[in-house]
Amino acid sequence: MTNNLDELKAENTLKNKAKSSWLTSFYVGMTDDVFSEDIRRVFIINLFASVGVLFTLPLGLVSLFEGKLVLGCFLLLIALLYAVNHIYLRRTHNHALSGNFVIYPLYVLMIYLVYTGGVKGTGHVWIYCVPAVSLFLHGMKRGLIELAFFTLALIVTMFFTNSHFEEFGYDPNLKSRILFSFIVVVFLSGIYEYSMSRFNQELKETSAKLKLVAYRDPVTELLNRRGMLQRLEASSYASFHLLLADVDFFKRINDEYGHEVGDYALVELANLIQTSLPEKGLASRWGGEEFLIAVCDCNESDAYALAELIRHKVEKHEFVYLDHRFHMTLSFGVATMNELTSLREAMTLADGRLYHAKRAGRNQTRRN
Ligand code: GH3
Ligand code: MG
Ligand code: MG
Repeated sequence: MTNNLDELKAENTLKNKAKSSWLTSFYVGMTDDVFSEDIRRVFIINLFASVGVLFTLPLGLVSLFEGKLVLGCFLLLIALLYAVNHIYLRRTHNHALSGNFVIYPLYVLMIYLVYTGGVKGTGHVWIYCVPAVSLFLHGMKRGLIELAFFTLALIVTMFFTNSHFEEFGYDPNLKSRILFSFIVVVFLSGIYEYSMSRFNQELKETSAKLKLVAYRDPVTELLNRRGMLQRLEASSYASFHLLLADVDFFKRINDEYGHEVGDYALVELANLIQTSLPEKGLASRWGGEEFLIAVCDCNESDAYALAELIRHKVEKHEFVYLDHRFHMTLSFGVATMNELTSLREAMTLADGRLYHAKRAGRNQTRRN
């Protein structure tokens, strides 16, 4: 059940926040709802592809009207590629490949624009969008390596080929100025990407810690009531069995040996329960000295047998803490959640049966 009771997804996600806004279309292709670096990537791919189409489409048409057939076709091809990419991402959610469809044609287009001058010799002004997109889509390491190759290609194109710069009679210093300013933009984008990814990493770690605190019991490290309820409510199983256990006379342990020993006993109990669970079982600390276990893919007798197995295991176990040695017992109430009985109803049934087990003398399991 640990694997099969699906993780409930964070409610307040970026995707949900964006659902009501015009930004929605930029999130298509997103596979999960949880905040992640991938979501930012998908957003940027879609945003960049859309902006790309908005620029390359009219520029392509203008180029065609001005008789620049190759440039026009190239720009229109890129516009088409970006539009297809958007559909591809929407269908396949493959943002890694989709990112490549955005970035590699962009490198080629930029070098081509620097070489030919684009429309009226202005082609080189577009290269400054490359560092941000490259670093963002491919991360610091791969992004910087690709940018180093791009810079190399830029140097070769500007200084060692018969590029448009001579044709338009620019100042001879322009090429070195373009190169230096491009390197400055790479540097600034690198710093920005580095701080953003550090910030995101810290955010992820904090979020994981908060989740742990919110959904786990710090003493036994089992799921707490909130965590268990969330798993059960999110479960795709139509039916499962609930085993509600309560320690018999636990107060006496605290009174006799102290609270610290009581805590130790709870941890030991949690371990005994956890190691008795079948593959599709999930245990939680439901309250003070109460544990709730859920099992699925088995019948009612199997669930009852599991409760009895744990009960016998605990009964036989000697709890040892420093020079204190003692025994404990558990009482169980077992109920089934299915199409006819809701989770809430099953919980009430298990609770009632546990109460009957207590009334009947404790250290026993009741299933009706
Ligand atoms: P019963 O058989 O009727 O269940 O008797 P009981 O003594 O177990 O039940 P009762 O509800 O009277 O006492 C439960 C005790 O569990 C009281 C409380 O001090 C103790 N307890 C609850 N949470 C913790 C905890 O986190 N650590 C320790 N050490 N004790 C706890
Ligand atoms: Mg008790
Ligand atoms: Mg109790």
